[in-house]
Amino acid sequence: MSGWEQRWHALREEWVIIAAHRQERPWHGERLGGPASSRDPIPEYAADCYLCPGNSRVSGARNEDYRGIYVFDNDHPCVGVNAPRQLEAPAGIHRNSRASGIARVLCYSPKHNLTLAELQLAEIENLLLGWRDQYVDLGSRPDVTHVLVFENKGETVGVSNPHPHCQIYATNFVFKTIDTEARVSRRHYQETGRVLFQDIIKAECEDGRRIIHENSSAIAFMPYFARYAYECYVAPKATHPRLSDLSKDEIQDLAAVLRQMTVRYDNLWQMPFPYVMTLHHAPFDGEDHSQFHFHIEFHPPLRKPNLLKYLAGPEIGGGNFLSDTLPEAKAEELRTVSDIHYKASHA
Ligand SMILES: [Zn+2]
Ligand SMILES: [Zn+2]
Repeated sequence: MSGWEQRWHALREEWVIIAAHRQERPWHGERLGGPASSRDPIPEYAADCYLCPGNSRVSGARNEDYRGIYVFDNDHPCVGVNAPRQLEAPAGIHRNSRASGIARVLCYSPKHNLTLAELQLAEIENLLLGWRDQYVDLGSRPDVTHVLVFENKGETVGVSNPHPHCQIYATNFVFKTIDTEARVSRRHYQETGRVLFQDIIKAECEDGRRIIHENSSAIAFMPYFARYAYECYVAPKATHPRLSDLSKDEIQDLAAVLRQMTVRYDNLWQMPFPYVMTLHHAPFDGEDHSQFHFHIEFHPPLRKPNLLKYLAGPEIGGGNFLSDTLPEAKAEELRTVSDIHYKASHA
């Protein structure tokens, strides 16, 4: 393996440049704070946390004394139903459009100090059902064309509150990556009669080196075209456009693989592993999305425990990712790490 090539990202329609031959070059840039394990332990309840049970939020609303998952409308929504309806027309070629929606927060657990990886299997199953219910509720609203569920985890992605939670944006527009995936999936089916994501899973299984874990109906793998050092996908093996299309058994299998994935992430450096996790779910725009394969994407920003992947000239300026690491090597690290959470194994 040369570790020096371009790889085609079929879902995004772009090249990823692998330049792993130079990964050990000297680094003089910023290093992040020490591992979380070296800091003070995080308490199970925090009086100043706006997500903990019974606490009040900036809006004045008080959280219920919840036990499982807990959902509420975001007090500082990026998208809201009160977005302006009348917009001033811009000059010339420029265009604008209303940006409305509903923003919610979903807490995974009443416990302030857990990560997704530390939830019990039944709790992860319940979380998947919670996400499903939000899709069904929000997706059925007339002014909603897409629902984006995502978790920003860790200070390196701007989240200082460790309380395990995700955000939900139900919008009158479809986010670009989802829109691209839906478009290329449809075209691939028209051209080949096959589902694009199935072809990706098939190629991953043929190669085998980047599969992190699988069971009878779900799989976790680092894609051939990974843009981030530890980028991984978790998906049911069968094609379902929406989470609500999965059977009870498929939800259980998906929960088990999701747990495997997140435990391995936390175990990699024995710290809560920072990532942006996004559920890629078919839009609710009235189009035929039967070829859209629901999946969960993890985009971890770190290349090493204290080393951030900076987006710079190639990514921001040029628009293509340049990866200093070889997916096969990074997948091997995740494959070989223990699947028992480091905190549980120390207990
Ligand atoms: Zn909390
Ligand atoms: Zn995707």
